[in-house]
Amino acid sequence: MDAKLEKQLNRLANRNKWEDIAALIEKIPENEWDMDIIEKYVHALNHSWQLDKAVAVLLRYQALGENDPLWHYQLGYAYVNLSRYDEAENVLLHGKELAKENKKVIGWIDKLLEQAAKEKEDKAKRAEAEAKRRAAYIPRDPNTPPFDGFDMTDFWDDCDNSLKDYAGAPSTDEMFAKAEQALGYKLPESYKWLMKQHNGGMVKRVLFRLPFPVPDQSDEIGITGIYGVDPAKEYSITGSNGNQFIIDEWEYPKIGIAFCDTSSCWNDMIFLDYRKCGPEGEPEVVRIDQEDNDAITYLAGDFESFIRGLVCEDTVDIADYPQFKYSPNCYENEIFVKAEVGETKICQCCGSKTKYYYASMYCRENVKVLCPHCIKSGAAAKKFNGVFIQDAESIETNSENYADKTDELFHRTPGYISWQGEYWRSHCNDYCAFIGDVGIEELEQMGIAEEVLADYATMDEYEIEEVREYLTKAGSFAGYLFQCLHCGKYFLWADAD
Ligand SMILES: [Zn+2]
Ligand SMILES: [Zn+2]
Repeated sequence: MDAKLEKQLNRLANRNKWEDIAALIEKIPENEWDMDIIEKYVHALNHSWQLDKAVAVLLRYQALGENDPLWHYQLGYAYVNLSRYDEAENVLLHGKELAKENKKVIGWIDKLLEQAAKEKEDKAKRAEAEAKRRAAYIPRDPNTPPFDGFDMTDFWDDCDNSLKDYAGAPSTDEMFAKAEQALGYKLPESYKWLMKQHNGGMVKRVLFRLPFPVPDQSDEIGITGIYGVDPAKEYSITGSNGNQFIIDEWEYPKIGIAFCDTSSCWNDMIFLDYRKCGPEGEPEVVRIDQEDNDAITYLAGDFESFIRGLVCEDTVDIADYPQFKYSPNCYENEIFVKAEVGETKICQCCGSKTKYYYASMYCRENVKVLCPHCIKSGAAAKKFNGVFIQDAESIETNSENYADKTDELFHRTPGYISWQGEYWRSHCNDYCAFIGDVGIEELEQMGIAEEVLADYATMDEYEIEEVREYLTKAGSFAGYLFQCLHCGKYFLWADAD
């Protein structure tokens, strides 16, 4: 390879321009390619996700690569990412033998082998759960009318968005016929029945809970609306955001009809799946997840069973969650993140599901999800050997219950969202309660601006004139309000980005 080309390729690689690299190499006549060029080419193909092409090129040069560990590594990489795990393991193990003393290449290969083993295991677990779901399916009795005995009260959510974008004019046989013709599939009778009651719309029963969930995986799907058959509505199966759009713009596989959107904004969609039954048959209901390589998950054996499986989101009662002495407004202040509809968060400390979670901690491990209970009990601080508060104004070490107060603040109280980390105010020999974010406007409304500014001036931090002029609630110069638990006096802390 000439020096100029090598330099150019390296520069592109540094900027992750894999498609440009592949295009550049394709311009070189193939009879001039050597193993070095082939490896750079395949590397670029793998990284720009042109995996089938990478496999084809590598196999074409098998004779050249047979004794080359990198050739094996690249082929294994493509196979793993194409979910061809057995072939991947074969080629990688052979590559590892060839790599002998090359620790770097062996390290790469081991990582891929680990990934392949884990994905293979996940796939097997999913297949097992799916088989159980299929086995539990009871086909509907064709002699009973659709949705017999189904309680429709509080099913549809007729909010403004739904009426504007989803819920169409009363459906007619002509609408069904046109939709079927445009889509090339026969619509299920139970779908038609439901659309005659209400021609699509957002729903109140926003959760589908997967029967036979896979351990460690989310078992809930949060849905938004069911698409009707009025093409004038954006979110209908033949509307401007309907099936054709989903397949053309979002490149979903063509297995049937996208009829139900989810809380992920099109990153996953619910489809009527006609692969098994053919365009005239009774389709299954599946979820296709683009974030997971277009993985297809079986949800229900037919449309009606899917609809019957929808439930309302669990009501989250704040009373079930602990209160914190030093942060009494933590839920209103959104110090805990509330999980999205259909999102399952598992506390990294106790392993339980939680709707509210705290997403950070000062510790060595990467802690992203902690339930309020594990903070309150001190279990999280103990398990991860960390704290939640960066710093606090000191209280007298010989004051009553000093150790317990300090332990409760640092180890059993969630912090607050700030620019430079928490600084917890204290008074009357105890830590104050964090009330919330404030700017000068809020302080004036509460009638405490002069009082807190006078105290703040004694701290020798930002100039009082600056605070008066710029302090804004949750702004780039932000204020944090505290209140003494004993005398009731208010105190301010401020920081900037
Ligand atoms: Zn927990
Ligand atoms: Zn006080």
